[in-house]
Amino acid sequence: MPEVSVDRYAVIGHPVEHSKSPLIHAAFAQQTGQQIEYGKILAPLDGFAATVASLREQGYAGANVTVPFKFEAYALATELTERARVAGAVNTLSFKGSDILGDNTDGVGLVRDIEHNLAVPLAGKRVLLLGAGGAAEGVLGPLLATMPSRLCIANRSVSKAESMVARAKPVDVLLEACSFEALAGQVFDVVINATSSGLSNERLPLTAGLFADGALAYDMVYGRETPFMQYAREEGVRQIADGLGMLVEQAAEAFYLWRQVRPQTAPVMTMMRAL
Ligand code: NDP
Repeated sequence: MPEVSVDRYAVIGHPVEHSKSPLIHAAFAQQTGQQIEYGKILAPLDGFAATVASLREQGYAGANVTVPFKFEAYALATELTERARVAGAVNTLSFKGSDILGDNTDGVGLVRDIEHNLAVPLAGKRVLLLGAGGAAEGVLGPLLATMPSRLCIANRSVSKAESMVARAKPVDVLLEACSFEALAGQVFDVVINATSSGLSNERLPLTAGLFADGALAYDMVYGRETPFMQYAREEGVRQIADGLGMLVEQAAEAFYLWRQVRPQTAPVMTMMRAL
């Protein structure tokens, strides 16, 4: 029997034990008949570059990168896609000879989940992005590319939101930064929570009346009902989503980058929800 070559990938993080990426990529591989192995690698906090070097020596074909290494991955890449360059952060690495290609699939994953899976077009909408950390940075470019009428970034540390606005590529979208408190009296069609407040079960200081009729409330955190989702429910929002769809869609984009095959995401989302 001829030996079947299996390309190896992994997600690198700290912590990484909780990561669902191996399950998602295994499901994509099975669905598309691709021969891959995908594992989890816990890198020491001061050892990201050494971990990547070791994977390359072992012949790995690529890796996903999660908290807290997305900025280090950006710095380590020898080539960047345009969307990774705009994001200033990398979540997908491809190893090609002596080159390390860095990409960021978070933004396209979020937009695909909102526009395709949840059927909410963003063009012309008033969009509020809560948070100005790595996840918010990663999705800003792709969100602006959908041409909302307005995009407001609100963050606890307002200066971070302001610097995101200052660095964004000029587009014909009203782009603003503000504090949570300054949102009082404003109304949005789509509100995306890109803060990690849901992980610590903390409630954001948001006032009533933030959501327009028929608004979408989206929390990037997945696998739990967050205080933000509870708040949206109390405000009468009917369309409330967690970040599982974004997780699966960003993984599908990485899989496509590595394998040039686009997997179906709907069955994998159904599988993940049933776990
Ligand atoms: P960062 O640590 O880079 O940023 C955290 C952000 O949350 C900052 O804006 C921070 O504000 C804010 N924040 C944290 N706690 C609070 C709080 N109690 N009240 C108000 N603001 C708070 O994290 P990331 O940006 O990388 O990740 C954010 C979230 O997105 C995480 O929960 C992560 O799990 C999720 N995520 C989901 C993905 C998916 O595929 N579904 C992909 C990527 C991320 P400040 O600047 O003031 O500190």
